[in-house]
Formats: sequence, C-alpha cells, structure tokens
Amino acid sequence: PRTSVVTGAASGIGRATKELLERRGERVIGVDLHDAEVTADLSTASGRAHLVEGVRGATGGSIDCIYAVAGLSVPGPDTVAVNFFGTVATLEGLRPLLRNSPAPRAVLVSSMAALLPSDAELVALLSAGDEPGAIARAGTLAEEPSTGQLIYASTKLALSRWVRRQAPAPQWAGAGIPLNAVAPGVISTPMTAELIATPEGREGLLKVVPMPLNGIAEPIVVARALAWLGGEENTHLCGQIVYVDGGSDAVLRGDSV
Ligand code: NAD
Repeated sequence: PRTSVVTGAASGIGRATKELLERRGERVIGVDLHDAEVTADLSTASGRAHLVEGVRGATGGSIDCIYAVAGLSVPGPDTVAVNFFGTVATLEGLRPLLRNSPAPRAVLVSSMAALLPSDAELVALLSAGDEPGAIARAGTLAEEPSTGQLIYASTKLALSRWVRRQAPAPQWAGAGIPLNAVAPGVISTPMTAELIATPEGREGLLKVVPMPLNGIAEPIVVARALAWLGGEENTHLCGQIVYVDGGSDAVLRGDSV
C-alpha cells in the first residue's frame, strides 16, 4: 500500500483527505499542531525541521505522496508563515523521501482566493522567498481590515504561481514527480464555519465567490480531487491548478484559460 503524508490532518479538508486515503487502504502520516501522528508547527523553522524528522522516523524514510493542506486565513503574518513558507518547506523538505517510490506525487492546496484582490508587494516578496520581508509586509497590511484581507489571497496567489514555476523543473517533473494544486471555492470547514453560519453570511460570501454549480461544498469533495492528483493514475497532470469551486473560476476569469 502507498504511504502518504497529509498536513493539516486534524481538521477540515486535511482530515477528510486522510480519512479517504485510509478507507482506500493507504497508510497516512497526519501532521498538525495537535491530534496528529507528527505534531509540528509549520510557521517556524524548527517546526518545519521537526516535520521532516518526524515523517522520516514514522516511515523509515520512504513515502509515496505529499499532501500539503495545512493553512489558515487570519489576516496577519501567521498566514504568510504557514500558507506559503510552511507549504513550500513541507514539499521541499519531504521531496527526498519520495525518491524510492514507484509512483511519487505531490499536491498542495491553494484557493480560488488567488483570483481575488491581493497585494502586489507581498506577492513579490513571497515569490522571492523573502520570509522576513513578507512577514513585515503582512504586519503592515494587518493594521487595517481593508488591507488585512489581502494577505490570505496574496499567499494563495504566490502558492499557485510557485506550482506553475516549480512543477516543470528537474527536481519535480524531471524526477518523475507530478506537482499540482487544487484551488477550492467555499468549503464547509471550521475555517469558514463562522462566515457561513447565517443565510446573510453565505449570501455575502457567494457574491464574492460565485458557485453556480451546487454551491458550498463539503471537504470530501476536495479530498477526492486531491486523492486523484496524488494517486497512481495521475501520470501526466503537471503544474495544474485544479479549481474545485463550483464554477467561481469560470465566472471570474471567463475566457482566460
Ligand atoms: P481547517 O481550519 O479546518 O484546517 C486547517 C488545519 O491546518 C487545522 O487542523 C490547523 O490546525 C492546521 N494548521 C494551521 N496552522 C498550522 C501550523 N502552524 N502548523 C501545522 N498545522 C497548522 O481549514 P480547511 O478549510 O480544512 O483548510 C485547509 C486548506 O484549504 C487551507 O490551506 C485553506 O487555506 C484551504 N482552503 C480552504 C477553503 C475553505 O473554504 N475552507 C477554501 C479554499 C482553500
């Protein structure tokens, strides 16, 4: 059976992914701040190192797939540290453990929020890999609610671009590892619970994130797409951002394909 690593496995999309893979007979090493096989804080350098050591210890050093799902949406610097740098560190730190897999795969979770307004300066700092600079910029943006809300979208835009740039490279495609992302629309998880608790909240959110096909989704919907991208059947999807969004991308970007 395949052995996979799922970050953010204690809740929402990560938990649904872990449970789906386990039902299919895979071994899954869950990573999270709590309630996980490997407890690690992906916002810190020591936590990221602990993730790699923990997974190495739990598996003997060989895995088949990385599912980088952990993230948060608070309008502050932590979101920069976890969503972008924590995700990149997960993928780069665990990549050597894919070396002996007959079908190595890597998938991360971006968001349709990558299509919403973002801060160009923060996106540039993220793309340059400048963590102190990006954290400082997020601190400034966090001072006002109107700019604070740009932080999450900026991390997800930078993450989607990272996938586009990295996937064809020697260390990924060249090593036989498909690297892709899913970009969910609004999913019913603890992250969105408060926002979608009332009819007015749901209506307001769906104005920004239009989902003409079936509306707000359960986490298992995203988990199924992740599991396919991370599974053996996926031999040629490379560098794709797969929108699991009920049509938000089609509505918002129209002819841009
Ligand atoms: P969630 O809050 O239910 O789960 C996120 C998990 O990540 C939690 O278990 C949390 O403990 C973990 N996490 C947070 N900070 C961490 C850290 N520093 N170190 C280790 N783990 C940490 O949220 P979710 O909705 O399942 O979100 C999962 C992913 O999906 C995130 O990347 C999120 O941005 C993305 N996403 C969610 C939605 C949505 O509508 N829910 C939409 C688009 C994208």
